[in-house]
Amino acid sequence: MAKIRASCPTCGDVELTTDDVVVRVCADDNSGTYTFQCSVCSTNVVKPAEQHIVDLLAASGVKVVVWTLPAELNERPVGEPFTHDDLLDFHSMLHDDEALTFALETITRPA
Ligand SMILES: [Zn+2]
Repeated sequence: MAKIRASCPTCGDVELTTDDVVVRVCADDNSGTYTFQCSVCSTNVVKPAEQHIVDLLAASGVKVVVWTLPAELNERPVGEPFTHDDLLDFHSMLHDDEALTFALETITRPA
């Protein structure tokens, strides 16, 4: 099992094995990171990884996880943006049992 030297923000250089490191590659933009738990302080560390680092770690036997951005990022919300006044109205409604009951019945009523 290959040894990998990585840097923890708290402890500095630490020595890891290939099983201690995971490479994550975003399929949508090909950005990469590698992550590990520091063997000294147990901090979870995430570092950006350029393609040549991803290739090097993968060739060393590090597990590579490919992920995709959530589809919700491409959805556009409908309606006007939520304002501070909307928040204040919502706060008031939470203290008005009758208005809250009406609102909940409105959104849970079958169409
Ligand atoms: Zn550490």
